[in-house]
Amino acid sequence: MKKFFVKSLGCKTNQIEGQIIAENLKEHGFEQVKNSKVANFFILNSCTVTSSADSEVKYLLNKAKRDNPNATTVLVGCIVSAQKELVKEWADVLLDNSEKLKISDYLEEKIAEHAEKNTENIFENVFLKNPTSSRVSIKIQEGCNNSCAYCIIPRARGKSRSNRTENIIEEINHLVSLGKEEVILTGIHIGLWGLEWGKKLEDLLIEIEKTDIKRYRLGSLYVNELDDNLLEFLAKSEKFCPHFHLSLQSMCNKTLQNMKRKYTVQEELDKISKLHKLFPNAFLGADIIVGFPMETSVDFEETIENIKKARLSKLHVFPYSKRKGTVAAVMEGQVPESEKKVRARKLIKVSDELLNEFLERNIGLELNFIFDDKINKFGMQKGVSENYIEIFSKENYAPSKIHKIRLEREMLGN
Ligand code: SF4
Repeated sequence: MKKFFVKSLGCKTNQIEGQIIAENLKEHGFEQVKNSKVANFFILNSCTVTSSADSEVKYLLNKAKRDNPNATTVLVGCIVSAQKELVKEWADVLLDNSEKLKISDYLEEKIAEHAEKNTENIFENVFLKNPTSSRVSIKIQEGCNNSCAYCIIPRARGKSRSNRTENIIEEINHLVSLGKEEVILTGIHIGLWGLEWGKKLEDLLIEIEKTDIKRYRLGSLYVNELDDNLLEFLAKSEKFCPHFHLSLQSMCNKTLQNMKRKYTVQEELDKISKLHKLFPNAFLGADIIVGFPMETSVDFEETIENIKKARLSKLHVFPYSKRKGTVAAVMEGQVPESEKKVRARKLIKVSDELLNEFLERNIGLELNFIFDDKINKFGMQKGVSENYIEIFSKENYAPSKIHKIRLEREMLGN
């Protein structure tokens, strides 16, 4: 009666948490199975970033019940934290984001009723003890103190809180002992790390630099969290991977204001120009939402122009998706779906051009790659450089270790 099947939807943080859930259950005597039809517990680790994500959750739970009527369905994660009322009938057991990381407690008690707990401001220090990936993500922060007009995350994950330095260092030392050479520091808002103790992200990085980890990478950052002290620290670092993922969302002042983002286009451009100066070969990725309410085609063109001016390396393009309970969902000037698709296609094309330019600039350079231990269906192994260039090779490199390789055009793509 202790077999479980777990499926995680959504972002990288959620994927990691799905692995933590599996590890937690295995430590408590549960057996993970790959076929949901033989599981006693069907666990769905949900995401609620888009309304299509909600429909997917409902569909998967219904399918699980049809395929395996004897299984207990367990819905965990963002959708439970954000929309408990909506989903209360969808599964046998509901666990929110803080409860899910201690899932074994709940399943051990045969999913008994549990007391309502207010753990919102406690960071649950749970890490993967046996990560399978060659570059390992570490969650250093949870939650968000902002209230962007389109976003449900503050409701789903609560206010910002940070993991303690000593926990993070212990985890890094553990990963070093497993032979890992890169960690990726992730969270919902890693620029807020340490806020509750009057500390800054660089205070944590100073400690990380003292460990034996060879290199570290930062997850997504809000543009005005990249202050001069942090940038100067990173520019001098020999362990920092020159890769920035910026949560820009738009490069048009009107749209930024409507989104309730707390910076202007000029601040974005100034910050990015500083990044180019301090990190001449850094990969500069950015998230952009297209078709936000009241974004006209002129506003959209303004964003494109500024993106080109900024010389970013790649864009992650998201057509705006209405989230119930957010300010943007009831704003006037909703953009038709067909128009969102047109804008998304146009921006992806811009992104492809930017990426090509970035890759061209790197051809012939010696870069430091870490390879996966998996071989893909073409018999190739994927490697990622410090500045986030992906290559594919048939050489069979030792995974998790850094390999210096001169980048050639034919290594790109598979
Ligand atoms: S900064 Fe805005 S978009 Fe990001 S998690 Fe917070 S509210 Fe959501």
